Amino acid sequence: MNLVLMGLPGAGKGTQAEKIVEKYEIPHISTGDMFRAAIKERTALGLQAKEYMDRGDLVPDEVTIGIVRERLSKDDCQRGFLLDGFPRTVAQAEALESMLTELGRSIDSVINIQVDKEILMERLTGRRICKDCGATYHLVFNPPAQSGVCDKCGGELYQRADDNAETVANRLEVNMKQAQPLLDFYQSKGYLHNINGQQEIEQVFADICELLGGLK
Ligand SMILES: [Zn+2]
Repeated sequence: MNLVLMGLPGAGKGTQAEKIVEKYEIPHISTGDMFRAAIKERTALGLQAKEYMDRGDLVPDEVTIGIVRERLSKDDCQRGFLLDGFPRTVAQAEALESMLTELGRSIDSVINIQVDKEILMERLTGRRICKDCGATYHLVFNPPAQSGVCDKCGGELYQRADDNAETVANRLEVNMKQAQPLLDFYQSKGYLHNINGQQEIEQVFADICELLGGLK
């Protein structure tokens, strides 16, 4: 089962990825993990990627694609894989297509977890952190007993600058602009399946399982 997982920040991609790989026994391949592993194993491409990252530059497509190719050729991917964070662009998606064709494989489904921007804003701006002990809360999902006060130590709760509305709205905007051409590409290929992410975690997962059950 060869899958690509997509969704904006806050859509619950990480949670669903964990559940998918557990049930279908396929590896979860995220870009960050892949880079870290290639660097740790000191592969030629890993070392190239490290040079760019150390300089604070973006790793070029040819290096990223090479690392993905090496990763997908490993034994644990023979039954399938769940790609997360790759591809990010249509160029990368096209490279993935030709890579899989060479390997005699193809994508079975691109799962896009959809959540309205307003709900993502609520999820992403609700985090509060204790100034004294670092405990984290969420105004909606895990609120403290008394507003603005840490349950554990009585410390004052604050919002990280990264979590403020303007920063979060910008981040979502950038991600949406980046994702749209990719969604269009996969739509045109017939791979794209939208899943309603505005439901309970278990229901979102049930919808994904229903989709995947129909594939085989
Ligand atoms: Zn505290």
